[in-house]
Amino acid sequence: MNEFERRIPKKGKDGLFARGVDIIQVNIGLKCNQVCDHCHLDASPDRREVMGREIMERVLEIMDEVRPQMVDLTGGAPELNPDLKWFLSSLTENGLRVQIRTNLTALLEPGLEDLPGFFRDHRVDLVASMPCYLEENVRNQRGPHVYERSIEAIRMLNGLGYGTANGLKLDLVYNPGGAFLPGDQDALEEAYRKELRQRFGIQFTNLLTITNMPIGRFQEGLRKKHKDKKYLALLKDSFNPGTVDGLMCRRQISIGWNGDMYDCDFNLALDMTMDHGAPDHVSRFDIGSVAGRRIVTGIHCFGCTAGRGSSCGGALA
Ligand code: SF4
Ligand code: SF4
Repeated sequence: MNEFERRIPKKGKDGLFARGVDIIQVNIGLKCNQVCDHCHLDASPDRREVMGREIMERVLEIMDEVRPQMVDLTGGAPELNPDLKWFLSSLTENGLRVQIRTNLTALLEPGLEDLPGFFRDHRVDLVASMPCYLEENVRNQRGPHVYERSIEAIRMLNGLGYGTANGLKLDLVYNPGGAFLPGDQDALEEAYRKELRQRFGIQFTNLLTITNMPIGRFQEGLRKKHKDKKYLALLKDSFNPGTVDGLMCRRQISIGWNGDMYDCDFNLALDMTMDHGAPDHVSRFDIGSVAGRRIVTGIHCFGCTAGRGSSCGGALA
C-alpha cells in the first residue's frame, strides 16, 4: 500500500477498488490549439498523438459490450481529431449519450465552423473550460485573447440553444489560478452566473470546480517557483475521507489516444496504465476484470480527495 491508500478508510481489502463502469472517457488526442499553464497533459499545437480509426473501431466494440451511461470525449482539443465527426456519429447512432470537453476557442478555429451545429444535431452535451469570469485570471492561465474568444464561443453556443433553459447542456469548468483549492462550487456558480449575465448576457448550465492536479505543466510551474512541496502538503492536509466513495475512477475508465487503458485521465497523463490484473490496452479489454479492478493510485490522488474533492464532474462532497 502507498501513502494515499493508507489514508483511505479501510473496508475489507487493501487499496482502492472500482465499482463498475458507468462512464468511459476517451482521450482522442493530445493536440490542442492552446498551451495553458495548468494543463496536466502538456497538450499543445505541437503534439502529434491523435487517436486513429482502428483504435476508435475497437472502442466502439467496447461501448457495445459495456453500454456506459455516458461517453466523455476529451483531449487536448477533441475538435482537432480529423475523425471526430465519424466517431461521434457512430456513438450517437448506437444510442449512446456523449459529452465533449471543449476549451471553447477550438470551436472558432478555421475549418471547424460547422462543428457546434453538428454537436447540437447529435444532441451532444458540452463541458467547457472557463477558469474564471475575470479576464485577467483567464489570460494568466490560458494566454492572450483566450478570454474574449471564450466569451464569443459561449455566445455562439447560447445562440444554438446550449446552456439555455430547456436547451442542451453547457457546463463550465473552474480551476484555481494557482496553488490553492477551489472555493465552494455553489457559491462560485452563483458568482459566474451573475457576472457573465451582467457583463455579456451569456448563460450556462452548471459550474464544475476542479482542483489543479500536482502533475504535468502545472506541477512543473510549481517546481520552478519552489511551491510544489507546499502544494502537496496542502492537498494531503486537506484529505477528506467523505470524498473517497465518489472518486471518479471508481465508476469510470479512461482510454488513451493509442488504446492504452487507465483508471483516470490523470493516470493517463502520468502514463500509469491499469494494473493489478486489469488489462492495460483496449485489445485485451475484458469487462470482468475491469469492473471491480484495483485502481492504480499515487501521491497525485490527494488532488482528488482534498477539501470538497475533485473529479471531471466537479466537487465530490
Ligand atoms: S488545459 Fe485544455 S485547453 Fe489548455 S492546453 Fe491543456 S488540453 Fe488544451
Ligand atoms: S487521480 Fe485518478 S486514480 Fe487517483 S483518486 Fe483521482 S481519479 Fe482516482
